[in-house]
Amino acid sequence: MKKDMRQVNLRVEDMPARWYNIIPDLPEPLPPPEGDMTAMGKGMIKECLDQEFSPDNWIDIPEELQETYRQIGRPRPVFRATNLEKRLDTPAELYYKAEGLFSPTGSHKINTALAQAYYARKQGLERLVTETGAGQWGTALSCAARITGLAATVYWVRAVHRWKEARRLFMELYGAEVFASPSENTETGRGLLKKDPDHPGSLAIAISEGLEDALSDDKAAYVLGSVLNHVLLHQTIIGLECKKQMEAIDRYPDVVVSCLGGGSNFGGIALPFLGDALKKGTRTRFIAAQTQAAPNLQGEYRYDNADYSGITPRLKMYTLGHQKDMPPVYGDGLRYHGCSPILRLLRNKGYIDTVAYPTDEKYVFESAKVFLSEEGFLPAPESAYSIAAAIDQADECRKSGEKKVILFNVSGHGFMDMEGYRQVLQV
Ligand SMILES: *Cc1c(COP(=O)(O)O)cnc(C)c1O
Repeated sequence: MKKDMRQVNLRVEDMPARWYNIIPDLPEPLPPPEGDMTAMGKGMIKECLDQEFSPDNWIDIPEELQETYRQIGRPRPVFRATNLEKRLDTPAELYYKAEGLFSPTGSHKINTALAQAYYARKQGLERLVTETGAGQWGTALSCAARITGLAATVYWVRAVHRWKEARRLFMELYGAEVFASPSENTETGRGLLKKDPDHPGSLAIAISEGLEDALSDDKAAYVLGSVLNHVLLHQTIIGLECKKQMEAIDRYPDVVVSCLGGGSNFGGIALPFLGDALKKGTRTRFIAAQTQAAPNLQGEYRYDNADYSGITPRLKMYTLGHQKDMPPVYGDGLRYHGCSPILRLLRNKGYIDTVAYPTDEKYVFESAKVFLSEEGFLPAPESAYSIAAAIDQADECRKSGEKKVILFNVSGHGFMDMEGYRQVLQV
């Protein structure tokens, strides 16, 4: 293939047929969860629970699920951002994976939503319950449940639910039941609303509510869109595709960048390359872009709960504290107190660098606008963080003269997030 291709894609039949499980390759075993696993274990899909602690390096993607991946547009392209390179006057080569493109709901979240819906139906379940922050996960789950033949219930962080009317309608079009969280539906929600009827909510609170709901129904499972090992596993299809795509143009990334909330899209693009760093000693730099509202990779490395009420087992993580108040940001998908156990271990071992951008979000939205002006695509607010960090890396190359190959993930499109752009950029 020509080396200066603007778009690099795989043939449909070359889509990866297995996910990569990094757990056996980690430099030390993951610290085990602490406390009572019963509630979480009972509420989860069995196959996903098995995958959570699987010792196998590779896990086959069931043929029927591969079919569905093709139905929703996989494989997805890697683009070379040539115009952006020129604008930045950088000797670096910039490549990005477009996860928002061809995604029916606009982000990478559909990759794991479909996998979880597939396993839930196989187990005979009828309803999936979840939380959502920015709304991308709730939409992806609503879509996956619908096309798999299941019902969906979504607890949506109230601060975001308020301003994303269109996205709520989108979920409801898929047939999902959507509640602003805290809600009157659960004990956790009622307790918080009593203290503050206009409580803005948080992901941790919405997780508590969803778990409470799912545990009260035998035919329901509680599903998560990030943080957990099996979610990152499903997302490795992103990085596995990228690897083949970069190989096709004879490139290997010196730097891999993405935004990190709970870690699913970062893990998705980075883990296959991190596996090389662990096994073959490759020297790729991995950079996680975060918001100062929730710089969880700079938190303390200790045991903490994944949810607000403490129903979930305690995981060893970098955490800001599970009842931490975090200022609202438009990149709400990044506003979570903890990060995936796999990534936190790798961060602790020095494999992952991090940068956190100010909560006024001017810099990241300006970066998104530069990207839009040069490459034409409107990124999701979360993806704007990834773009800002990639631009910063390209700027460093301009100063040092290094010709690095930078690969970044654009985790979603921003077609439904115009309000964020309007508010932050005053357009
Ligand atoms: C949810 C979301 C994120 C953040 O979640 P991760 O699990 O850290 O990837 C980032 N980008 C988009 C578009 C999202 O929907």
